[in-house]
Amino acid sequence: MTKMVPQLLTESDIKNQRKDHLSSDDLVGFNVSNSFRQFNQMNDMFTRAYWDESIKSPDTEAFFNSYRADFIPRRGEGFNQKDFALRNASWLISDIISNRGGEKGLREGFQAAIESDTEIAPNKVLIEDVANQSIEIKKIAKLFGADLVGITSVDKRWHYSHRVDTKTFSAVDNELPADCNSVIVMAHAMDYDLVDTYPSALAGASTGREYSHEASICMQLAAYIRGLGYEAIASMNDTALVIPYAIKAGLGEYGRNQMVLTPEYGPRVRFSKIFTSLPLKKDVPKSLGIKEYCNDCTKCAKACPPKALPFGLPTEGSESPSTIKGVKKWSANCEKCFGYWAKIRTDCAICMRVCPFNRKYKSPYDIVWRWLATSRFRKLALIWEAKRKPRKRLKPNDWWN
Ligand code: SF4
Ligand code: SF4
Repeated sequence: MTKMVPQLLTESDIKNQRKDHLSSDDLVGFNVSNSFRQFNQMNDMFTRAYWDESIKSPDTEAFFNSYRADFIPRRGEGFNQKDFALRNASWLISDIISNRGGEKGLREGFQAAIESDTEIAPNKVLIEDVANQSIEIKKIAKLFGADLVGITSVDKRWHYSHRVDTKTFSAVDNELPADCNSVIVMAHAMDYDLVDTYPSALAGASTGREYSHEASICMQLAAYIRGLGYEAIASMNDTALVIPYAIKAGLGEYGRNQMVLTPEYGPRVRFSKIFTSLPLKKDVPKSLGIKEYCNDCTKCAKACPPKALPFGLPTEGSESPSTIKGVKKWSANCEKCFGYWAKIRTDCAICMRVCPFNRKYKSPYDIVWRWLATSRFRKLALIWEAKRKPRKRLKPNDWWN
C-alpha cells in the first residue's frame, strides 16, 4: 500500500530545501528569502472566487456560468454563441476528469491530483541506465502528444501547503506518495492563430484544448510508468506550482507576464507534470537570456487592460494572499487580472499574445530575432521589435472565415 505524506513543510524543512536546491535556485534566478512561505491553494484566485467575499461578484458568477450550456452570450465579435460553444467543447475532456470526483470534494487536475485509473504492476522493470530511461520517458511523452519534456527533482517548497476540498471549500492536507522524488514536466503548445484572437471567448478554446490534451497525455504517461512497476501521479494545476518546476526542468525562463517563456513557443504553452518514483536522470535549469530581455521590455505590461502587470524589476512585495511570499519575482495584481477575466466572461491572455517571443519560429527572421534577443545583442532585438509594424490582433470573424 502506498504511503501518503502531507506536503506541508516546517521552517527548518524550508531552510534545508533551500540548501539542497541552492545551485538550481541560483541558476533559474529564484531569489527565495527567509520570509518564504509555501502557497496555500485556498488563496489562488479561482478558489478565492468561491469563498472570499472580497472577490465574489455578479461578474465572477457570470464568468463561471459561461462554461455552462444555458449561458446567454454577450454581444460582440468573438463572444457569440458559436465562440462560447467552441471554447466550452474544447474543455470537455478536462471537465470530465475534473468533475468525476466532485462528490468527494476532489476537483482532479485543479484542486486535487488526478486519481490513478490503473494499478502499479507488481514486478518492477529493472532500470540499469537512468540516463537512457529519461530519454525513453521523453520519447513516450512525445508519443502521447507532449511538445516539450523536462525532468527535475521534487522540491516541496513549490507544493501547496494545503489543497482545497471543493465540496466544503476548506483547506485539507495536500498528500503525495512518499516515494515520488522526480517530476516529469510536459509543455503543451497552444494554437498560434487562436491565441492571436485574445481577448475573446473564441481564444479560450486554445486554453481548453490544451487542458484536455494535457489531461489525457499525463494520465497515459502515468499509466505507462505504473505499468513499469513504479508510482506515478498525473497532475495538472493541482498539488504544486508548475511554473518553478518547468523552469527547474530546463524548459524556459520566467517572464514579466508571469509565464514561462520557452525558446520554442515563447509563452504560448501550458504545463502538466507527473510525480514519480521511477529512477530518472534530471535536467538542469538553463539561463537562456530571456529574463534579461524582459528586464528591458514592458510590452505585456503596457498591453494589459486592467494594468495588472508590473513595469519595474522583480520585487518581493505584494500584500495579496494570491502572491507567494518570500520570492523575488514579477508578480501580477491577481485581483485586477481575474476581475478583467470575470468582466469579459472568459480567460484573457493578451500578455501572451503580444509577447515578442510568441512566434511560430518558422521564418529565418523569427529565428534570427530569437538569437539576437537571447544574446548580448538583445538591445538590437529590442530595436528591431520596436521598429516592426505592430502585430494586429486577428479578428475572431477572420479566424472563422
Ligand atoms: S491575462 Fe490579461 S488581464 Fe491578466 S495580466 Fe495578462 S493581459 Fe492582464
Ligand atoms: S512582453 Fe516583453 S516583458 Fe513581457 S514577457 Fe514578453 S518579453 Fe517579457
